[in-house]
Amino acid sequence: MSPFAYARPSTLAAAVASGARHRSDGQREPGADFFAGGTDMVQLMREHLRTPGEVLDITALPGLDRIEAGEAGLRIGALVRMSDAAAHPIVRERYAAASEALLASASAQVRNLATVGGNLLQRTRCGYFRDPGAPCNKRVPGSGCPAIAGQNRLHAVLGVSDQCIATYAGDFANALVALDAELLIAGEGGERRIPVAALHRPPGDTPWIETQLEPGELITAILLPARPDSWRSHYLKVRDRASFEWALASAAVALDLVDGVVRDARVAVAGVATTPWRLPGVETALRGRTISPAVAREAGALAGEGAVTHGRNVYKVELIRRTVARAIEECAA
Ligand code: SF4
Repeated sequence: MSPFAYARPSTLAAAVASGARHRSDGQREPGADFFAGGTDMVQLMREHLRTPGEVLDITALPGLDRIEAGEAGLRIGALVRMSDAAAHPIVRERYAAASEALLASASAQVRNLATVGGNLLQRTRCGYFRDPGAPCNKRVPGSGCPAIAGQNRLHAVLGVSDQCIATYAGDFANALVALDAELLIAGEGGERRIPVAALHRPPGDTPWIETQLEPGELITAILLPARPDSWRSHYLKVRDRASFEWALASAAVALDLVDGVVRDARVAVAGVATTPWRLPGVETALRGRTISPAVAREAGALAGEGAVTHGRNVYKVELIRRTVARAIEECAA
């Protein structure tokens, strides 16, 4: 691990100010790296894949480690541990997909340490990205993408570009997209609010730019909207082994079911896409329908629309169709 300076600010303003540097041309550039649970960041630092000059430990920032319920819904502070969010009674009861996605992530030990805010920003598990000796456009812009013609069984089929086909590795963000969650983000200009669905950027021509966060911006909370009792949700993850494994494919489904008929639906997938990936075609196919195995299959068949495969990951198209169909059935059951 490369040497770095360490600081532990006690106010949000101090953290945000240190998270960006002002250049002489007036633009801002990344400053110190934020650190909370560190479960992904320390791995990257040990491998010299991330070499911050300064690390800002944000765990002393006040008010970010609470879950608060109100009329508008639930506010989960960014520093809440994954295990605490998963076990919270309101999350389990009202936002089941979020609790299930958290419990399907990593291991119990990691969930006890990692924060929900940090979880949203975890980096890809692409083996080339994690290998300091390999070229990788995401890590070293312009160096190439060996995954496109190489070991790509685990790689994405949705949202890919000719620069990068890495999957977004998380589960929680996928569930949050299906639940219409938003993020509170603090920056030097104050606070702004964006849908979770807008946080991650597909790789396009700039795979090294992964989110909409500006230099110095910090996620402070996740906002889950209040919903009528008719909504229910479910998260289904398919993986190579039952625990401590990333998704080959996963589906988050939220249904507004009234008298057995789907009034509204939100469906998002991960493990197959470069970002948490919403499926509006599947949602449209569900509205006004009564869920049956045939209807779930019919809607799930639309899940692979727009897929681009690269040799070893061709199986993911059929896998995501079946995963979505099963998640719809299980959600409605
Ligand atoms: Fe790098 Fe993306 Fe290619 Fe993986 S898929 S090697 S992360 S550019």
